[in-house]
Amino acid sequence: MAHPNLNYLRPGSLPHMYCPGCGVGQILNCLIYAVKELDLDMNKVVTIGGVGCTSRIPAYFNTDAIHGIHGRNLAFATGVKLANPELSVLVIMGDGDCAAIGGNHLIQAARRNLDVTVIVNNNMNYGMTGGQVSPTTPTGATTTTTSRGNIEKPFDLCKLVEAAGGTFISRWTTAHIPQLINSIKRGIMHRGFSFIEVVAQCPTQFGRYALGLRDPVENLRWLRENSVTKTQAEKMSEEELRGKIIVGDFVEKDEPTLVEQYEVILKKAQLIQR
Ligand code: SF4
Repeated sequence: MAHPNLNYLRPGSLPHMYCPGCGVGQILNCLIYAVKELDLDMNKVVTIGGVGCTSRIPAYFNTDAIHGIHGRNLAFATGVKLANPELSVLVIMGDGDCAAIGGNHLIQAARRNLDVTVIVNNNMNYGMTGGQVSPTTPTGATTTTTSRGNIEKPFDLCKLVEAAGGTFISRWTTAHIPQLINSIKRGIMHRGFSFIEVVAQCPTQFGRYALGLRDPVENLRWLRENSVTKTQAEKMSEEELRGKIIVGDFVEKDEPTLVEQYEVILKKAQLIQR
């Protein structure tokens, strides 16, 4: 018997390219459950990826899709949303795609409150190209380009997007599947810039070098044991929070979106009737 979610995968796309135990598969699975539970019209969903293991998701997820260029996902998403505001636009990125090459697109899209849903797989390194240091690699972590430990501070992506103007912001890990599905659903239904960070395992390039964890299950256990909810975090000191992943839904607010504001000026100029 075929898997009940098989029709959400692009015909002919399997086998996939991911390493055994990679977190990207879990993120794709959560995305499928979210759109299925929302009963979205899949003819009105567009998925946009850039370059990297995570940005390959649009090749497997059976929607109209753009597999674009590195870091430019949100530029494509802006064009798609302005051209057809009725579409649900899902942007899938890795941490390098999102916060390094695409960092300026990220803050500008958040500032504009572009009505799209961004899902970022933060596996703390550039997995596809060999495990190099990324803007979210923890300080001190050993990667292929920081063999004596990373001397830089990592971005807190959720705080970055909040400061830039994002209006729905969550963080979970791949050890928090029901919570992640719920936040993706809420992000898709939210009017405005939705940002969902997923701290995930890259057992091949990061887990075994930076954390000394060879088994994907050990990676998941590490994510679970090092996570604290935002409610727990409020009662913890800065010292106790060092190295912890704070998870939860952080921001949800109602503000005019880019398209709504654009339509106001078009109406004033009598260029549209709506
Ligand atoms: S390199 Fe890392 S992120 Fe890429 S497929 Fe392998 S485990 Fe996944």
